[in-house]
Amino acid sequence: MGRREALAADGVRQGRLFARTYQAFLAYGDRSRPLLDRQHERLSALLTRVLRTVPALRARGVTPGDDPFATLARLPTMTKQQIRDDYRGHFAEDIDPRDCASVVTSGTTGVPLKIVHNSEHFVHVNALALRRALEWGLPLDRKVLRPFKSEADGWLEYTVPSAGFLRYGEFGFVTDEAAIARRCLEFGPDVVFTHPSRALALRDMLAPHGVLRPRVVQTFGEQLTDAARQAISEHFQAPVRDCYGVNEASTVAAQCPEHGRYHIEGERVWVEIVDDDGNPLPDGVEGDIVVTNLFNTVMPFVRYRTGDVGALSAERCPCGREQKVLRLITGRQHGAIALPDGSRTDVLRLVKLIERFPVERLQVVQDSRESLTVLVRPAAGCTDDDLRRAADAATAALHGRLPVRLRRARPDEFTESRAGKHLNFVSLMEN
Ligand SMILES: [Zn+2]
Repeated sequence: MGRREALAADGVRQGRLFARTYQAFLAYGDRSRPLLDRQHERLSALLTRVLRTVPALRARGVTPGDDPFATLARLPTMTKQQIRDDYRGHFAEDIDPRDCASVVTSGTTGVPLKIVHNSEHFVHVNALALRRALEWGLPLDRKVLRPFKSEADGWLEYTVPSAGFLRYGEFGFVTDEAAIARRCLEFGPDVVFTHPSRALALRDMLAPHGVLRPRVVQTFGEQLTDAARQAISEHFQAPVRDCYGVNEASTVAAQCPEHGRYHIEGERVWVEIVDDDGNPLPDGVEGDIVVTNLFNTVMPFVRYRTGDVGALSAERCPCGREQKVLRLITGRQHGAIALPDGSRTDVLRLVKLIERFPVERLQVVQDSRESLTVLVRPAAGCTDDDLRRAADAATAALHGRLPVRLRRARPDEFTESRAGKHLNFVSLMEN
């Protein structure tokens, strides 16, 4: 099934969700109940259910008590590796496949892992995204441009009913820059929704062809540096609003439109900062970010270690929103490949391209400006020819400016971060 057919099939599923999404959207507009009450209720419902239906959680022998936060504290944190080691044990036994959709985690957090969400998860993700759009002054039928979206070749437009009939325009690897730039300008998006590095790549691609004036540039997936924020905002003449999220929980925190701080999406996720042993740390103290997805009862993420480091702010944001503020210490840094002419290009585009081939794990390593090596652990059935084609595609994606070599690597050859996290990209060059 091609991308277009898959989207059409998904559109039918999403269309069924829209009524629920819109109801949840309206309910979120009612702020008469304190957030903490709603979190208490939600967490209680989640734990009462999943401690009974999910074998890996049931095995902890914890009985839900009256205080769901106390119950939660009795559960150990979980890592992606633990889930991988007991994959089936992390699914509810009463799963209804018709109510589920899966996403595959990107390579940024390690070997890809298939995450399954239930419709309740998507309903609330979309309802809060609608709420946010409204706060940003965007229409509900907003047009959203997703540049360099790797699943698509060429230009693709489609409507997402469950998200309030928003219209996506996206493109993947670009062979004809002028043609794609023209499509972007004709589309006239309200929002550019992308990684910071791709927003900059979009700027470079569009510059010779015209001016794009979105109302907001929404970034995610990488650490947004001040320099990148300024460059993006200046070029598009629009505010840059950054989000922090993980595939296991979708958006975890989004920037306050008034003060720029990252408000936790507390209606959907419960965030803790913990030490190495999983003990919660007080507000203001740095530690590992642990999230509990309050709505996914099918493949629950309860006290899930994101691999990122941060702190909960002890102070409330001056905007008055109830949602706590998360201070990110190390966000996602995908890095940029240095090209021989001194320019840089987004490594994630290359990673996504190579992920189309049968490889289980990959890491881009740059040790000079003249060549690039990609370490790969091939999947079962991967042939030398697959690897050769992947290398050719990667070299072509860099417009032949840098030859890309693929090499089969042993597990211990992959460099990991100090926190033991998989890295997409390792640069061995000075600065
Ligand atoms: Zn705020």
